[in-house]
Amino acid sequence: MDRGLISVDRWEKGSQAYFLTHLHADHTKGLSSTWSHAPLYCSSFTADLIPLKFPHFDLSLLHVFHIGTWQTLNLISRSSGAPTSVEFIAIDACHCPGSVMLLFRGEFGFMLYTGDFRWEKGCKRAAKAKEMLLGAIKDDNVDVVYLDNTYCNPIYDFPSRQVAAKQIIDIITSHPEHDVIIGINTLGKEDLLVQISEALKIKIWVWPERMWTMDLLGISDHFTIKTTITRVRAVPQYSFSVETLEELNKIKCPTIGIMPSGLPWVKKSPPKTKCISRAVLTANCKKAEWSEDDGDGDGEEYEPAGDIGPPEKLHKYIFTVPYSDHSNFAEIRDFIKLIRPTNLKGIVSSSSCYIEPMYYLSLLCQGNRPSEVLNSKLKRKASATVSGSNKKPPGSYIAELARRRCLTMKARLSRIRMSKHSILRKVHRGATIQDNERADLKTDSDGNQVP
Ligand SMILES: [Zn+2]
Repeated sequence: MDRGLISVDRWEKGSQAYFLTHLHADHTKGLSSTWSHAPLYCSSFTADLIPLKFPHFDLSLLHVFHIGTWQTLNLISRSSGAPTSVEFIAIDACHCPGSVMLLFRGEFGFMLYTGDFRWEKGCKRAAKAKEMLLGAIKDDNVDVVYLDNTYCNPIYDFPSRQVAAKQIIDIITSHPEHDVIIGINTLGKEDLLVQISEALKIKIWVWPERMWTMDLLGISDHFTIKTTITRVRAVPQYSFSVETLEELNKIKCPTIGIMPSGLPWVKKSPPKTKCISRAVLTANCKKAEWSEDDGDGDGEEYEPAGDIGPPEKLHKYIFTVPYSDHSNFAEIRDFIKLIRPTNLKGIVSSSSCYIEPMYYLSLLCQGNRPSEVLNSKLKRKASATVSGSNKKPPGSYIAELARRRCLTMKARLSRIRMSKHSILRKVHRGATIQDNERADLKTDSDGNQVP
């Protein structure tokens, strides 16, 4: 692997400074109690959790940054060997406690690493973070956005966490005689649990290690580690299964399970006989970008649905509710529309329904505006027509472009796995930023810049 200047959520040797956006396991692969490559920069809450997750971690390596404050690192350029500086600022990612996105400025250019994030419309914290980010960017162009592309596909259409939380509360209140187990991660969804606790006026059981996090957050009054005093238990995702639910119900302990996640919340796949309409679904999304955005960056924003219909059941005892700490596709699109970077790179190398983010969002990037792309393509085609005696009018060329896009889309869709039970989990995240990163822009056959 190339030696880097700084690494974000990647932990191999070779960089001079390391950044951790948040403490979810897929961002800490390679980090351990004995890791000691270089200084590690993270938020204050993440720093508090590190000794719990990695006992014996060398705490002298930890450098806590403050949200919304530019800081400077003095490093050595890998290419010239001369001193170089990197400026960075952290912004609230609204994903889980302590999570941040990071904006970097250095000889490699101006880069934004989103980490995992969810900025919902109507969320005050997200609005504040958005204002902070725009204030930090000012009139500069962001060269590259390293994007949380977990749900960067139009098939992911789920509502705000507020709407999903209400549905979860409704499910619990409509099962007054049942015990309830909710599958959660080792970090995240605390706001949901507090909302349930407040709405039902009960404490929620969590396992002892999870209680430490609640203590650190100052919300432990809503939780208990005694199973006998509550019917609602938040359990680790690994212990949440059909088998567990069936066993509990077999021993005459009526129990339902609730899985809060954006993962199963995909639009219904059309019947086989209508497979073309799946291409139309994504084609319409593409078309919407072209027609809806007038080029001045103030295009209509995504309006989340207020009513999401009845809850979905994965199994007779299991409800799935689209409570997600990652942005849905429309929110990602609004985010990129806001930043308008030159280039985009997905930070999730393998996710469900993975499609390269530039495929959907390239038109929202600088230099890839619809009019510019079309004009440049038409100009290229016109000059080719002159030299090659091709008499096709521009209209035919656009139709040909559309046909090619449709074929590409169908080929890509054939690789998508839509099954709720066989959806691939994300496996790898992170980025190593080198001092010559800005030159790392390539162009595909359509003239779009790609990572
Ligand atoms: Zn995460």
